[in-house]
Amino acid sequence: MNAEIIAVGSEMLTPHRQDTNSLYLTEKLNELGIEVRYKCVVGDNAEDLTAAAKLAMKRSDIIIFMGGLGPTEDDLTREAVAEALGLKLQRDPQIIAKLEERFAKRGIKMSANNTKQADVLTGATVLPNSNGTAPGQWISGKYDGKERILILLPGPPNELKGLVEGECISRLRAKIPPQHIAVRELKIVLMPESQVDARLAPIYKTYPDVQTTILAGAGEIQLHLRSRKESQADAEARVEELAEKIEDELGDAIFSRKGESLEQIVSYLLQMRGMTLAVAESCTGGLLAQRITSLSGSSRYFLGGAVVYSNELKTQFANVPKALINKHGAVSREVAKALAEGIRQRCVSSFGIGITGVAGPTGGSEQKPVGLVYVALAGEEGTQVVERNFPGDRKRIRWFATQQALEMVRRALL
Ligand code: ATP
Ligand code: MG
Repeated sequence: MNAEIIAVGSEMLTPHRQDTNSLYLTEKLNELGIEVRYKCVVGDNAEDLTAAAKLAMKRSDIIIFMGGLGPTEDDLTREAVAEALGLKLQRDPQIIAKLEERFAKRGIKMSANNTKQADVLTGATVLPNSNGTAPGQWISGKYDGKERILILLPGPPNELKGLVEGECISRLRAKIPPQHIAVRELKIVLMPESQVDARLAPIYKTYPDVQTTILAGAGEIQLHLRSRKESQADAEARVEELAEKIEDELGDAIFSRKGESLEQIVSYLLQMRGMTLAVAESCTGGLLAQRITSLSGSSRYFLGGAVVYSNELKTQFANVPKALINKHGAVSREVAKALAEGIRQRCVSSFGIGITGVAGPTGGSEQKPVGLVYVALAGEEGTQVVERNFPGDRKRIRWFATQQALEMVRRALL
């Protein structure tokens, strides 16, 4: 069975508020083996809500509305759903009595507009809301010959949760055949998406029952595998089999199987080997150190380093000979190497990293264009330097440079 979630509220169509309820709800639905096929946000507008409800009834088995059940003028979900389904609304005296009681307990006189929260769709089951005034509603039946479940829930997150956990999960479980979902999240660093797909498509295409999604992020590709089966064991077996085939194809390029970040993986590896790291950063201005130290416990393997933006500081803090900078320029293979070796020596660490480059948007030249970055890793077995031409803006280039550096440490530790 597939679900559709409709978040109701004009505030979520502004840059200031987000629909976070649907993330929670999706998690709960997935735990039941229900896949979310569509999700949308609709403003507090009757016509738009009716249109959204009609469309959802056509294409989804389970439709969940969240929000717009309150007492105010702009709470229109009940009316819109009634209109879309051609149902009447009936005022439920029991709900009115409960509302009155709730207000009386707090010593407040109930204002008249609250009564509209007692309007119930013909044939719907009322879902009591112990955290607020607006109850939810559940209605199921055949629409256009197809079995549909429609649920109306309040928007405030604590009320929504109360109703989902208290009223909806057990009802849904009783309605659907048992299904289980297994997922894997593989991560690959610094490989173009097209290349990943070209190599993997022939493999994942032979698993049509496993949903495979390739998400390209900054300097990182995520592969999401998802299988839905009648038993958890079957679902797990299926994603596992595909994950193994993908690993056979891409090998070491995959750095994470459980969604860990690159700095996390580097952290595990350094600790396992009992090794330490120091950095000398120019164009990344401390971003690498920031990423490494964002993890608690990083003091066990990260000694520190220096942000050496000026040529003088490259010499003073990382022992880069002045003559070397004059000869090759600050952005050069030679200076990256000297930075890595210099900081390793000064900090007495197992590894030293040197980064120098042109982050832009100004400062590029024909010979040294924006995006040109040298990353060096110095260790016991010598120093390696990588030259890259990263695309994108300043933020992206700096991020890619740190990805490159962390990836070099990871490779050295494998
Ligand atoms: P109700 O159904 O209880 O009337 P409502 O949408 O009418 O809900 P509002 O007063 O519009 O209630 O919103 C109450 C609070 O809940 C607001 O802070 C709102 O931003 C939040 N909220 C509503 N919908 C969502 C959502 N989908 N995700 C996160 N927060 C939400
Ligand atoms: Mg609202």
